[in-house]
Amino acid sequence: MIDLHTHSTASDGTDAPGELVAAAKAAGVGTLAITDHDSTQGWDAAAEAATACGVDLVRGIEVSCRHGGVSIHLLAYLPDPESPTLVAELAHARASREARLARMVALMEADGVPITYAEVLAQVQRPGTTVGRPHIADALVASGVVPHRDEAFASYLHSGTPYYVAHYACEVVAAVRFVREAGGVAVMAHPFAAARGRVVGDDVIEAMADAGLAGLEAFHHDHDAEQTRHAVDLARSLGLFVTGSSDYHGTGKVNVLGEHVTDPDVLAAIEEQARSGVAVLRS
Ligand code: AMP
Ligand code: FE
Ligand code: FE
Ligand code: ZN
Repeated sequence: MIDLHTHSTASDGTDAPGELVAAAKAAGVGTLAITDHDSTQGWDAAAEAATACGVDLVRGIEVSCRHGGVSIHLLAYLPDPESPTLVAELAHARASREARLARMVALMEADGVPITYAEVLAQVQRPGTTVGRPHIADALVASGVVPHRDEAFASYLHSGTPYYVAHYACEVVAAVRFVREAGGVAVMAHPFAAARGRVVGDDVIEAMADAGLAGLEAFHHDHDAEQTRHAVDLARSLGLFVTGSSDYHGTGKVNVLGEHVTDPDVLAAIEEQARSGVAVLRS
């Protein structure tokens, strides 16, 4: 099985990078992509574990983007992690995420929600982690306010609550360009997952394709049958490939490793299109 979208403790997953790779091996995933939000911090530990466990590793990033006020996630496979624009954009997003988390917690505290910023930081497993709302959720779970991340999102953290604060994210067409400049292969994550928030129209995806987008993640936990079909049809009409992946976050989400998978031909196309010198690590 080829699973091209997963998270570790370098962002909002609950498995350390090495644990993620071991879990993939145990689940029968032979090729795994590590795609933490706005970070390459988990790459080295994942690579070490991949060699040790016998898993092929695709090093990637899930880049936070936007189009107007709509949040978009862009998967970047095999980019040069030292590309200056990429490095600067990821650092900007991570710094903005930290300021935004503090602001959200301050708004919650002022409204009487029993939480402190120190409790949130206590949920961050590694220095340099990309922080996000799941870390607030984990603090609420730890202090018994809610039983699981899901309920924290439903009650306190979704974008319609008075506590929601946006963070910096690059405009998505510009992001496709800087991923390409870094020699990476750009795939739009869960393009039509309306349950997560607003989604963009096909015209925006067409503009992304013109800028060098390579694929759409059609098969994803948050897509229903109609959204999957729309992604497959749009990809075909724009000459893009389609991927499937789990978006596994450890115990942070119900998504299980390998629940959606990608065709070997598509993995070959990703390798073929990468221009960074970062290869798929074969074990
Ligand atoms: P943020 O990056 O801070 O905007 O938070 C978004 C992240 O929260 C996503 O990447 C998901 O991993 C996670 N998330 C969103 N909704 C839920 C939910 N209902 N339950 C668990 N995690 C969620
Ligand atoms: Fe996430
Ligand atoms: Fe995502
Ligand atoms: Zn993800």
